[in-house]
Amino acid sequence: MDEKWDINGTIESIAASMQSCLRERSPVEGLRFDSIDGVLDITFVRLKASLTQISQAVVTSAPLMEGLMEAGLDDPKKIYAAWVPFAGRAGDLNPICGSQSDRDGVKFSSTFFERHDDPEPNHCLSQDTIMLHEVFHALGAVSPCAPNYLGQSSNLPKGHVNDDPNDLMYGGDELGVMIELDKDRDDYFGHGLANCTDLADSPFLQHAD
Ligand SMILES: [Zn+2]
Repeated sequence: MDEKWDINGTIESIAASMQSCLRERSPVEGLRFDSIDGVLDITFVRLKASLTQISQAVVTSAPLMEGLMEAGLDDPKKIYAAWVPFAGRAGDLNPICGSQSDRDGVKFSSTFFERHDDPEPNHCLSQDTIMLHEVFHALGAVSPCAPNYLGQSSNLPKGHVNDDPNDLMYGGDELGVMIELDKDRDDYFGHGLANCTDLADSPFLQHAD
């Protein structure tokens, strides 16, 4: 289904919300989004695979990445943020709200969104924080050297923290609201340790002059 998010302003407003989420919690101005003449660079891709084929894939990101690369989104120096208007799954995890995967050295961060009938009109509502979470994975968070690193857990792949249920990168069983950005500045953002991934130093982030 084409939700027209590329042309009706939805993606722009989600992207703006991602930027303010970062600005409000850190000295960072935001992510370095690609733009053309000052307008966010958004590409609409219609996948060749049918919805049935995609729903049969064990991991939704596989046919998704294949289709995006076929459409020429294959620059290994970029991270591609894909807003996907159908249900996502990863093996037994179904549905998932987001995923981050690499294919042939190209990084894709995806969020999924699926309409349902009432009483559950849809799920995966927080498209801004979910995408921020997936982009942070693409940037290398959370690294195993973090003091509150959560390794492989029962329901999530590795790459999360376990100390704060409200952390953007929390991966434990008591998931809260993804609103904190490494509050103690010790795991993945602003810790300043040279030998452990610190997203505050990422070239994908824009700093105030
Ligand atoms: Zn995650």
